[in-house]
Amino acid sequence: MKRSTILVVACYVASVLFLISAFNETPVNSEQAANQAEKHGAEKAAVQAKGHAPEHAAVAGEVNPFAAKPLPDEAIAMLKQGNQNFVDGKLTHPHLDAARLKQAGSENQGDHAYATVITCSDSRVPVEAIFDAGIMDIFVIRVAGNVCDVDERGSIEYGLAHVNTPVLVVLGHTQCGAVTAVTHAILGTGHPLERNIPPLVDNIEPAVRKAMADNPGIKGTAIIPQAIEENIWHGIEELFMESPSTREFVSKGYAKVLGAVYDVGTGEISWLPETKTLEILKKVEADSSKAVAEKH
Ligand SMILES: [Zn+2]
Repeated sequence: MKRSTILVVACYVASVLFLISAFNETPVNSEQAANQAEKHGAEKAAVQAKGHAPEHAAVAGEVNPFAAKPLPDEAIAMLKQGNQNFVDGKLTHPHLDAARLKQAGSENQGDHAYATVITCSDSRVPVEAIFDAGIMDIFVIRVAGNVCDVDERGSIEYGLAHVNTPVLVVLGHTQCGAVTAVTHAILGTGHPLERNIPPLVDNIEPAVRKAMADNPGIKGTAIIPQAIEENIWHGIEELFMESPSTREFVSKGYAKVLGAVYDVGTGEISWLPETKTLEILKKVEADSSKAVAEKH
Protein backbone atom coordinates (compact mmCIF):
# COMPACT_ATOMS: atom_id res chain seq x y z
CA MET A 1 0.00 0.00 0.00
CA LYS A 2 1.29 3.41 -0.88
CA ARG A 3 2.15 5.67 1.99
CA SER A 4 -0.72 8.01 2.44
CA THR A 5 -0.81 11.15 4.44
CA ILE A 6 -3.16 13.19 6.43
CA LEU A 7 -3.57 16.91 6.67
CA VAL A 8 -4.91 18.41 9.82
CA VAL A 9 -5.44 22.12 10.08
CA ALA A 10 -6.66 23.78 13.20
CA CYS A 11 -8.45 27.08 12.95
CA TYR A 12 -9.08 29.30 15.91
CA VAL A 13 -12.08 31.48 15.06
CA ALA A 14 -13.72 33.69 17.69
CA SER A 15 -12.10 31.72 20.47
CA VAL A 16 -13.63 28.50 19.18
CA LEU A 17 -11.49 25.77 17.81
CA PHE A 18 -12.67 24.45 14.52
CA LEU A 19 -10.92 21.38 13.36
CA ILE A 20 -10.80 20.46 9.75
CA SER A 21 -9.48 17.03 9.14
CA ALA A 22 -9.16 15.56 5.71
CA PHE A 23 -7.71 12.34 4.48
CA ASN A 24 -5.74 12.83 1.33
CA GLU A 25 -4.15 10.20 -0.89
CA THR A 26 -1.70 12.77 -2.23
CA PRO A 27 1.28 13.63 -0.07
CA VAL A 28 0.98 17.12 1.29
CA ASN A 29 4.06 18.88 2.47
CA SER A 30 4.33 20.97 5.56
CA GLU A 31 4.65 24.20 3.62
CA GLN A 32 1.31 23.62 1.91
CA ALA A 33 -0.25 22.81 5.24
CA ALA A 34 1.17 25.92 6.83
CA ASN A 35 -0.11 28.07 3.96
CA GLN A 36 -3.55 26.62 4.35
CA ALA A 37 -3.49 27.24 8.06
CA GLU A 38 -2.45 30.84 7.45
CA LYS A 39 -5.35 31.23 5.06
CA HIS A 40 -7.67 30.32 7.90
CA GLY A 41 -6.04 32.94 10.09
CA ALA A 42 -4.70 30.34 12.46
CA GLU A 43 -1.96 31.37 14.81
CA LYS A 44 -1.00 27.82 15.44
CA ALA A 45 -1.11 25.07 12.90
CA ALA A 46 -0.42 21.48 13.61
CA VAL A 47 1.16 19.99 10.60
CA GLN A 48 1.75 16.36 10.12
CA ALA A 49 3.35 15.92 6.76
CA LYS A 50 4.40 12.30 6.86
CA GLY A 51 2.26 10.13 9.04
CA HIS A 52 2.43 10.18 12.79
CA ALA A 53 6.01 9.44 13.60
CA PRO A 54 7.03 10.10 17.19
CA GLU A 55 9.19 13.07 16.20
CA HIS A 56 6.13 14.81 14.77
CA ALA A 57 4.20 14.09 17.92
CA ALA A 58 6.63 16.22 19.85
CA VAL A 59 5.86 19.31 17.72
CA ALA A 60 4.33 22.03 19.85
CA GLY A 61 0.72 22.79 19.03
CA GLU A 62 0.02 19.35 17.64
CA VAL A 63 -3.64 18.70 17.14
CA ASN A 64 -5.16 15.38 18.06
CA PRO A 65 -5.91 13.82 14.64
CA PHE A 66 -8.84 11.99 16.21
CA ALA A 67 -10.43 15.17 17.56
CA ALA A 68 -13.40 15.15 15.18
CA LYS A 69 -14.28 11.58 16.18
CA PRO A 70 -16.05 10.16 19.22
CA LEU A 71 -13.75 9.65 22.19
CA PRO A 72 -12.38 6.09 22.47
CA ASP A 73 -14.79 5.27 25.31
CA GLU A 74 -17.70 6.67 23.32
CA ALA A 75 -16.79 4.52 20.32
CA ILE A 76 -16.51 1.47 22.60
CA ALA A 77 -19.95 2.27 24.02
CA MET A 78 -21.33 2.40 20.45
CA LEU A 79 -19.85 -1.03 19.71
CA LYS A 80 -21.21 -2.47 22.96
CA GLN A 81 -24.69 -1.06 22.34
CA GLY A 82 -24.63 -2.36 18.76
CA ASN A 83 -23.75 -5.85 19.97
CA GLN A 84 -26.48 -5.66 22.61
CA ASN A 85 -28.99 -4.79 19.88
CA PHE A 86 -27.76 -7.81 17.91
CA VAL A 87 -28.00 -10.18 20.87
CA ASP A 88 -31.45 -8.86 21.80
CA GLY A 89 -32.72 -9.25 18.25
CA LYS A 90 -33.29 -5.49 18.08
CA LEU A 91 -31.08 -4.50 15.18
CA THR A 92 -31.59 -0.94 13.98
CA HIS A 93 -29.77 -1.55 10.64
CA PRO A 94 -28.20 1.90 10.57
CA HIS A 95 -26.46 3.47 7.60
CA LEU A 96 -27.60 1.01 4.97
CA ASP A 97 -29.97 3.22 3.01
CA ALA A 98 -29.60 5.14 -0.25
CA ALA A 99 -28.69 8.33 1.60
CA ARG A 100 -25.73 6.62 3.25
CA LEU A 101 -24.62 5.12 -0.07
CA LYS A 102 -24.68 8.61 -1.57
CA GLN A 103 -22.59 9.83 1.35
CA ALA A 104 -20.15 6.95 0.89
CA GLY A 105 -19.69 7.93 -2.73
CA SER A 106 -18.98 11.54 -1.99
CA GLU A 107 -17.51 11.81 1.49
CA ASN A 108 -14.40 10.69 3.32
CA GLN A 109 -14.74 7.51 5.38
CA GLY A 110 -12.30 9.11 7.79
CA ASP A 111 -15.05 11.52 8.79
CA HIS A 112 -17.40 8.70 9.77
CA ALA A 113 -15.91 5.32 10.70
CA TYR A 114 -15.62 4.98 14.48
CA ALA A 115 -13.83 1.65 14.90
CA THR A 116 -11.23 -0.58 13.33
CA VAL A 117 -11.90 -4.27 13.90
CA ILE A 118 -9.56 -7.14 13.06
CA THR A 119 -11.24 -10.48 13.29
CA CYS A 120 -11.29 -13.98 11.80
CA SER A 121 -12.54 -14.80 8.31
CA ASP A 122 -14.97 -17.30 9.86
CA SER A 123 -18.42 -16.99 8.28
CA ARG A 124 -19.98 -17.04 11.74
CA VAL A 125 -18.48 -13.62 12.55
CA PRO A 126 -20.25 -11.08 10.30
CA VAL A 127 -18.68 -7.92 11.66
CA GLU A 128 -21.14 -5.15 10.77
CA ALA A 129 -24.11 -7.32 11.78
CA ILE A 130 -22.80 -8.22 15.23
CA PHE A 131 -22.18 -4.53 16.00
CA ASP A 132 -25.44 -3.33 14.39
CA ALA A 133 -23.39 -1.11 12.11
CA GLY A 134 -23.54 -0.12 8.45
CA ILE A 135 -21.64 1.59 5.67
CA MET A 136 -18.68 3.77 6.69
CA ASP A 137 -19.00 2.70 10.33
CA ILE A 138 -16.28 0.10 10.79
CA PHE A 139 -12.88 -0.36 9.10
CA VAL A 140 -12.61 -4.14 8.99
CA ILE A 141 -9.64 -6.48 8.59
CA ARG A 142 -10.46 -10.18 8.32
CA VAL A 143 -7.93 -12.97 8.21
CA ALA A 144 -8.03 -16.56 9.41
CA GLY A 145 -7.19 -16.62 13.10
CA ASN A 146 -7.25 -12.78 13.32
CA VAL A 147 -3.46 -12.80 13.20
CA CYS A 148 -1.56 -9.49 13.34
CA ASP A 149 1.13 -10.16 10.75
CA VAL A 150 2.65 -7.47 8.57
CA ASP A 151 -0.23 -6.90 6.12
CA GLU A 152 -2.75 -6.89 8.93
CA ARG A 153 -0.62 -4.46 10.97
CA GLY A 154 -0.40 -2.21 7.93
CA SER A 155 -4.18 -2.32 7.59
CA ILE A 156 -4.59 -1.52 11.28
CA GLU A 157 -2.19 1.43 10.94
CA TYR A 158 -4.30 2.64 8.03
CA GLY A 159 -7.46 2.36 10.12
CA LEU A 160 -5.96 4.34 12.97
CA ALA A 161 -3.66 6.86 11.28
CA HIS A 162 -5.73 7.59 8.17
CA VAL A 163 -9.31 6.62 8.87
CA ASN A 164 -8.75 7.95 12.39
CA THR A 165 -10.89 5.43 14.21
CA PRO A 166 -10.48 6.03 17.94
CA VAL A 167 -10.69 2.35 18.81
CA LEU A 168 -9.19 -0.88 17.53
CA VAL A 169 -10.75 -4.20 18.51
CA VAL A 170 -8.82 -7.44 18.12
CA LEU A 171 -11.76 -9.81 18.00
CA GLY A 172 -11.24 -13.53 18.38
CA HIS A 173 -14.12 -15.97 18.49
CA THR A 174 -15.16 -19.23 20.10
CA GLN A 175 -14.53 -22.45 18.16
CA CYS A 176 -11.90 -20.75 15.98
CA GLY A 177 -10.80 -23.25 13.34
CA ALA A 178 -7.37 -21.69 12.92
CA VAL A 179 -6.56 -21.89 16.63
CA THR A 180 -8.03 -25.40 16.73
CA ALA A 181 -5.85 -26.52 13.79
CA VAL A 182 -2.70 -25.16 15.44
CA THR A 183 -3.63 -26.86 18.71
CA HIS A 184 -4.02 -30.17 16.90
CA ALA A 185 -0.69 -29.67 15.12
CA ILE A 186 1.07 -29.10 18.44
CA LEU A 187 -0.67 -32.09 20.01
CA GLY A 188 0.41 -34.27 17.07
CA THR A 189 -3.17 -34.91 16.01
CA GLY A 190 -3.17 -32.54 13.06
CA HIS A 191 -3.26 -33.20 9.34
CA PRO A 192 -1.04 -31.96 6.52
CA LEU A 193 -1.62 -28.28 5.75
CA GLU A 194 -1.87 -26.69 2.33
CA ARG A 195 1.17 -24.84 1.08
CA ASN A 196 0.31 -21.33 2.25
CA ILE A 197 -1.28 -22.12 5.58
CA PRO A 198 1.85 -22.71 7.74
CA PRO A 199 3.18 -19.15 7.31
CA LEU A 200 -0.32 -17.86 8.09
CA VAL A 201 -0.79 -19.81 11.29
CA ASP A 202 2.77 -19.48 12.58
CA ASN A 203 1.62 -16.36 14.40
CA ILE A 204 -0.84 -18.49 16.37
CA GLU A 205 1.56 -21.20 17.50
CA PRO A 206 3.34 -19.18 20.23
CA ALA A 207 -0.05 -18.23 21.68
CA VAL A 208 -1.22 -21.85 21.88
CA ARG A 209 2.08 -22.94 23.44
CA LYS A 210 1.83 -20.16 26.03
CA ALA A 211 -1.76 -21.12 26.87
CA MET A 212 -0.57 -24.71 27.37
CA ALA A 213 2.37 -23.64 29.54
CA ASP A 214 0.21 -21.32 31.66
CA ASN A 215 -2.46 -23.98 32.18
CA PRO A 216 -0.65 -27.28 32.76
CA GLY A 217 -3.79 -28.78 34.28
CA ILE A 218 -5.77 -28.41 31.06
CA LYS A 219 -5.19 -31.33 28.74
CA GLY A 220 -5.62 -31.87 25.02
CA THR A 221 -8.00 -29.76 23.01
CA ALA A 222 -9.64 -28.46 26.20
CA ILE A 223 -6.98 -25.73 25.99
CA ILE A 224 -8.60 -24.18 22.90
CA PRO A 225 -10.66 -21.47 24.71
CA GLN A 226 -7.54 -20.31 26.59
CA ALA A 227 -5.54 -20.46 23.36
CA ILE A 228 -8.14 -18.31 21.59
CA GLU A 229 -7.78 -15.61 24.26
CA GLU A 230 -4.00 -15.91 24.30
CA ASN A 231 -3.99 -15.50 20.52
CA ILE A 232 -5.68 -12.13 20.96
CA TRP A 233 -3.08 -10.97 23.49
CA HIS A 234 -0.30 -12.26 21.27
CA GLY A 235 -1.73 -10.31 18.33
CA ILE A 236 -1.88 -7.13 20.40
CA GLU A 237 1.72 -7.66 21.54
CA GLU A 238 2.92 -8.18 17.97
CA LEU A 239 1.06 -5.07 16.91
CA PHE A 240 2.61 -2.96 19.66
CA MET A 241 6.08 -4.37 18.93
CA GLU A 242 5.92 -3.61 15.24
CA SER A 243 3.73 -0.50 15.04
CA PRO A 244 5.23 2.67 16.53
CA SER A 245 2.25 4.77 15.42
CA THR A 246 -0.20 2.49 17.23
CA ARG A 247 1.91 2.67 20.40
CA GLU A 248 1.97 6.43 20.12
CA PHE A 249 -1.81 6.82 19.66
CA VAL A 250 -2.57 4.56 22.61
CA SER A 251 0.09 6.18 24.85
CA LYS A 252 -1.40 9.60 24.15
CA GLY A 253 -4.93 8.41 24.80
CA TYR A 254 -6.02 9.25 21.25
CA ALA A 255 -7.05 5.67 20.60
CA LYS A 256 -7.70 2.50 22.56
CA VAL A 257 -6.90 -1.10 21.68
CA LEU A 258 -9.23 -3.71 23.10
CA GLY A 259 -9.29 -7.48 22.95
CA ALA A 260 -12.62 -9.30 22.78
CA VAL A 261 -14.04 -12.75 22.11
CA TYR A 262 -17.20 -13.28 20.05
CA ASP A 263 -19.35 -16.27 20.94
CA VAL A 264 -20.52 -17.81 17.67
CA GLY A 265 -23.39 -19.59 19.43
CA THR A 266 -24.94 -16.65 21.30
CA GLY A 267 -23.74 -13.56 19.43
CA GLU A 268 -22.37 -12.11 22.66
CA ILE A 269 -19.00 -10.43 22.91
CA SER A 270 -16.83 -10.81 26.01
CA TRP A 271 -14.63 -7.75 26.34
CA LEU A 272 -11.19 -8.50 27.70
CA PRO A 273 -9.67 -6.16 30.31
CA GLU A 274 -8.24 -2.96 28.91
CA THR A 275 -5.68 -2.96 31.73
CA LYS A 276 -3.99 -5.97 30.18
CA THR A 277 -3.62 -4.14 26.84
CA LEU A 278 -1.89 -1.30 28.67
CA GLU A 279 0.36 -3.77 30.52
CA ILE A 280 1.42 -5.26 27.19
CA LEU A 281 2.11 -1.77 25.82
CA LYS A 282 4.22 -0.96 28.87
CA LYS A 283 6.16 -4.21 28.53
CA VAL A 284 6.87 -3.59 24.85
CA GLU A 285 7.88 0.03 25.40
CA ALA A 286 10.27 -1.04 28.15
CA ASP A 287 12.10 -3.32 25.73
CA SER A 288 13.66 -1.22 23.00
CA SER A 289 15.04 -4.35 21.34
CA LYS A 290 11.45 -5.44 20.71
CA ALA A 291 9.69 -2.17 20.04
CA VAL A 292 10.68 -1.25 16.49
CA ALA A 293 10.95 2.39 15.48
CA GLU A 294 9.27 4.16 12.57
CA LYS A 295 11.10 3.88 9.23
CA HIS A 296 11.89 7.14 7.48
ZN1 LIG B 1 -11.52 -18.32 13.46
